[in-house]
Amino acid sequence: MSKAVISSLYDSDVFRMACRQFDQAADAINLAEDIRDRTKYPRRCIAVSLPVRRDDGSVTVFEGYRVQHSLSTGPSKGGIRFHENVTLGEVAALAMWMSWKCSLVGLPYGGAKGGVIVNPRELSPTELEHLSRRYMQELIGFVGPQLDIPAPDVGTNEQIMAWMMDTYSNHMGHISPGVVTGKPISLGGSQGRREATGFGVAHLVGKYLEDMRIPIAKATVAIQGFGNVGSETALALSAMGARIIAVSDYMGGVHNAKGLNIKKAMAYVQYAGVLKDFEGGEAISNEQLLELECTVLVPAALERVITEKNAPKLRCRLLAEAANGPTTNAANKIIENRGDIELIPDVLCNSGGVIVSYFEWLQNLQSFYWGRDEVLEKLKGILDKAKESVEYQKRKFKFGRRLAALTLGIARVAEAKQKRGLFP
Ligand code: GLU
Repeated sequence: MSKAVISSLYDSDVFRMACRQFDQAADAINLAEDIRDRTKYPRRCIAVSLPVRRDDGSVTVFEGYRVQHSLSTGPSKGGIRFHENVTLGEVAALAMWMSWKCSLVGLPYGGAKGGVIVNPRELSPTELEHLSRRYMQELIGFVGPQLDIPAPDVGTNEQIMAWMMDTYSNHMGHISPGVVTGKPISLGGSQGRREATGFGVAHLVGKYLEDMRIPIAKATVAIQGFGNVGSETALALSAMGARIIAVSDYMGGVHNAKGLNIKKAMAYVQYAGVLKDFEGGEAISNEQLLELECTVLVPAALERVITEKNAPKLRCRLLAEAANGPTTNAANKIIENRGDIELIPDVLCNSGGVIVSYFEWLQNLQSFYWGRDEVLEKLKGILDKAKESVEYQKRKFKFGRRLAALTLGIARVAEAKQKRGLFP
């Protein structure tokens, strides 16, 4: 029988990692051979050139992608990343993970992801606006409230979502807030969306610490990444009584065993742009942060930072994956064999973001808006249910927690495809 060759398009370490996870999950649940490849590989990808007029009058052409992994259970959903190391393979892996994530927590979406190869810090606000609008312009025809709904990811934010929504709406001739989520509240964004991912991470950390019988007031936390997700996780966990002993961003981090003042750190970053030289603690590198002795370690930045090199040296009790794909497959095996670290896998841990994106989309479609408490209560309800189903699957099949989460997510997508037929 001939094998799918589609993967050559996406070939990269991170895409192979996502495929390997899929293969292991498919084997674990004896997924029928004839459904595997079409569940595993992305439905389609779009690659676009993005000419942008620079402030000095010159033109730079950026490259962007959108990968729509699955459209079988609803529109596809997932963020857009602006980062200089974006590759098509990375975007494809992230789109796959979005499919399992949405499926695991029961959202009526398939997975997607977008990316542009750019360091957004090197663009002026005007250039960033031109790039964001041009990206959306090139995707008109492939996105829409019933087709594919982008959102923020690394390097993008509410303002960028506003520009994209505006570009799409101008093209349609009417405002269409449901085309992207993570918008400013004044443009149909949801209460609670900005903090949703971090709030969800903190909520699940609280629940797992309870299971581990560790009082949150005794917990110490180290967080790699101080963007939207890392900073909101830090804020929520410190509000719950945990002590945040280290945080970092791409330039490095700060460590203080007595605890950091997160509100001050956030205010400092707002003004300085980076954590570097924040006076609340001692400087620490990203590598050192991951190996700190702490109760909870939260990788909240990019993929593949926990590797076979540092996995044996981790000194946390709970690893909460706020980033997508932070742990390589080899590191995952080491952590499982060690047996002394509990893991909250990415597809569960960071699902709060897309869950509140779903709420935002619902509110947009109904033009009926909810209060913050209502949003966060509903978010907790979905997270608790997803956690329970993962724990049940883990016990029932004696799986690791990542395998439990992935098998649940993958099985539902595969079943939908099986029942619909070959097209979706
Ligand atoms: N980029 C986020 C993620 O990786 C959010 C996606 C969304 O809200 O659609 O889950």
